[in-house]
Amino acid sequence: MEFRDGFVGTIGRTPLIRLNRASEETGCEIYGKAEFLNPGGSVKDRAAWAIVKDAEERGALRKDGVIVEGTAGNTGIGLALVGNARGYRTVIVIPETQSQEKKDMLRICGAELREVPAVPYKDPNNYVHVSGRLAEELAASDPNGAIWAQQFDNQANRRGHFETTGPEIWEQTDGKVDGFICAVGTGGTLAGVAMALRERNPGIKIGLADPPGAGLYNYYKYGELKGEGSSITEGIGQNRITGNLEGLSVDFPYQVRDEESLPVVFDMLQHEGLLLGASSGVNVAGAIRMARDLGPGHTIVTILCDWGTRYTSRLYNPAFLHEKGLPAPQWLEAAE
Ligand code: PMP
Repeated sequence: MEFRDGFVGTIGRTPLIRLNRASEETGCEIYGKAEFLNPGGSVKDRAAWAIVKDAEERGALRKDGVIVEGTAGNTGIGLALVGNARGYRTVIVIPETQSQEKKDMLRICGAELREVPAVPYKDPNNYVHVSGRLAEELAASDPNGAIWAQQFDNQANRRGHFETTGPEIWEQTDGKVDGFICAVGTGGTLAGVAMALRERNPGIKIGLADPPGAGLYNYYKYGELKGEGSSITEGIGQNRITGNLEGLSVDFPYQVRDEESLPVVFDMLQHEGLLLGASSGVNVAGAIRMARDLGPGHTIVTILCDWGTRYTSRLYNPAFLHEKGLPAPQWLEAAE
């Protein structure tokens, strides 16, 4: 018999997909790690499980305990599903301005939602701080324990990628990988994979693909954390050095605008048959730039983060794109 052991046993060991157009265009071998094939549909399943597993091992979480996080995206879905599979309650604190689709999705996955007003990070009532306080209260009052997943600063997140994603990439490329690049939300993926690959080959090149509005491109290029502009991408774009980014160095930082990444994500759908979210477009556009800088003959790996089905009302909606001043491809207009 061949099977995977439940939800958490199905996380990881994702295939590496050769991106034919990007490879042919650059003379390099460009591969996307198919993280959208994780059972919860995104790369964040790995972080969710790594964080919960770490809490179990520390004895911070027992059966029927509570997982608390402030998030509106893939991490919430991953945590709720890991929670269902391992017997924990999941409480997600989210700004009330988030889309109805996201709230519905979290509820369907079993999360209890606490909606709070959308206020900036420096305000103590920001959803991240509210989730931290709530976790503290529940940890004190719930007999089975409660944890604050704290994906941005909890290094169990990058450890998960250090122990799984990075070694998988090394083995799947037979150690021939020359460069790895991706965007940053928490930094868990980039830092964890970079640490694992550099441990095996200190000369490996690490790239960052940063959307406008995020501060990391300027930080790794010029030493100054500064973000300007905006992007329609979701789940990426960071303006501080999170706990997961601590100690990371980047060889090739790039800023990737929507005008550059959207054609790549649409091209992957039309010509490769891959229906992906916008952050995957940023990643592959970054990989193409890195391929040009390294020159032909190199092997570059990036991440295909999540499914495009999560973004039908935005990335794949011509009316939304026009509203943002972005062009929509002809076939998408015709599909209306
Ligand atoms: N893409 C998407 C769609 C995401 O949800 C996330 C996670 N926030 C990322 C990329 C970035 O991953 P990480 O948090 O590991 O930096």
